[in-house]
Amino acid sequence: MFRLNSNYGGGANSGSYTGSQAASRAESKATAVECQVKALRADLARSLMISEALWELLRDRAKLTEEDLHKKLYEIDMRDGVLDGKNQRKAQKCPDCEHMVSSRHPACIYCGKVMDDSVFSI
Ligand SMILES: [Zn+2]
Repeated sequence: MFRLNSNYGGGANSGSYTGSQAASRAESKATAVECQVKALRADLARSLMISEALWELLRDRAKLTEEDLHKKLYEIDMRDGVLDGKNQRKAQKCPDCEHMVSSRHPACIYCGKVMDDSVFSI
């Protein structure tokens, strides 16, 4: 007989009981992730509004144009060589020890060379 979790033993119903618990846990986890996504979307909306306010203040005081903004966005987007709406560092070779360093690490894990000192990395 197939059981979802044979480590816990029990009678003939243990498989469906464990399956029910697993389903309940999965549902709870999905609900928690849904709440996190909702909170992140709210944080993002607030960040976008702050960026918009800063842009409008700067535009009005420095007499900039929307074209200036788009040119700068293009310039920043292309810093990583790909026009994809992002400017995040990719894995690259350490200039000191020549090991490949993942973009997850701000410094080389082999020699400690700082690979990314940008405050705009996520
Ligand atoms: Zn290194």
